[in-house]
Amino acid sequence: TYAWFSQRAWVEIDLEALSHNVQQLRQLISEHTDLMAVVKADAYGHGAVTVAQTALKSGANWLGVATVPEGIELREAGINAPILILGATHTLEQIHAIAHWKLQPTICSPKQALVFSETLGSIDYSSSIPVHIKLDTGMSRLGTNCELAGNFVQLVQSLPHLEIASVYSHLATADSADPTVMHLQHQRYERAIAQIKEIGIEPSYLHLANSAGTLRDQNLHYDMVRVGIAIYGLYPATYLREKIDLRPVLQVKARVTQVKTISEGTGVSYGYQFIAPRELRIAVVGIGYADGVPRNLSNKMQVLVRGKRVEQIGAITMDQLILDITDVPHIQEGEIVTLLGQQGKEKISADEWANQLNTISWEIVCGFKHRLPRVAV
Ligand code: PLP
Repeated sequence: TYAWFSQRAWVEIDLEALSHNVQQLRQLISEHTDLMAVVKADAYGHGAVTVAQTALKSGANWLGVATVPEGIELREAGINAPILILGATHTLEQIHAIAHWKLQPTICSPKQALVFSETLGSIDYSSSIPVHIKLDTGMSRLGTNCELAGNFVQLVQSLPHLEIASVYSHLATADSADPTVMHLQHQRYERAIAQIKEIGIEPSYLHLANSAGTLRDQNLHYDMVRVGIAIYGLYPATYLREKIDLRPVLQVKARVTQVKTISEGTGVSYGYQFIAPRELRIAVVGIGYADGVPRNLSNKMQVLVRGKRVEQIGAITMDQLILDITDVPHIQEGEIVTLLGQQGKEKISADEWANQLNTISWEIVCGFKHRLPRVAV
């Protein structure tokens, strides 16, 4: 019960917004389709355990992580829902842990399938573990080429200790306005499934869609959708805003630690990237690039204080940054500054930073460091 209000900077996680987003997604998909909350990378920086628990209470029924330790963290917190590891796993330690913690691995290649089966045999594993077969339909990342789906699935099915729980793939361009590649991947996935059925194997569970695919096209939903960014209240693309009402879950806040006046011509912060053009009132704020505020936003970003946008000036430093508060008089030391989030009618979104930095909101929210406590509100 750390007194969070004494912190210099923190991340607020709005669990009602998260719950709202999951419920909205639940309404968008059929009752026969499962909803996987993708909570890898510490739930995209939001805090994996709290997010997973809230998402499961709100209608998600699967969890997706990237690594074995991410899955173990959820199990250690008492979460019993099925957990799919979306990343590759190969080593004895990983396979041991997967069996022990009842995690469900992705099998990307025949070689990996053999390693899993042999390793489970060598540790005298008496039953089978559910595995998820990954096909590459055009992402060129993990997975076996979908044209080889039939042989691959047949091999996995023939191996001891492995039970095929699903056959899945991942979309590369679902957020792009041009649907050509997405349709092509969909067709390839359909052809691969047909090939598997032709050899007499009926995969019980199919899944293809990420957030963008889920929002765009019901035909991509199959038996489950794997939703990351949308549960955090961020749209995979602007034009998908009309599809669903999402609320951002994460806000980043920090306190003003010092207020002072500087005279015209005074340089500000390392390298004097900013020189005061006139007398200015400035505020120092206790958050910096070591907390995850990108240094490339120096002299570009705005923050909210007393419901108004103010400019950040000079280089962002490791633990602190500086604001020009000349137009917002009487700011006090200890006041709260919102870097991402809302104050009154003003909002600053992860998309605003992403646009300024020529990146995506995923990278922005994943970038907040553990030095910032996550506070559920
Ligand atoms: N499925 C897989 C295999 C992923 O790697 C990811 C995340 O990158 C997702 C689903 C979720 O993607 P998004 O955050 O775009 O919904």
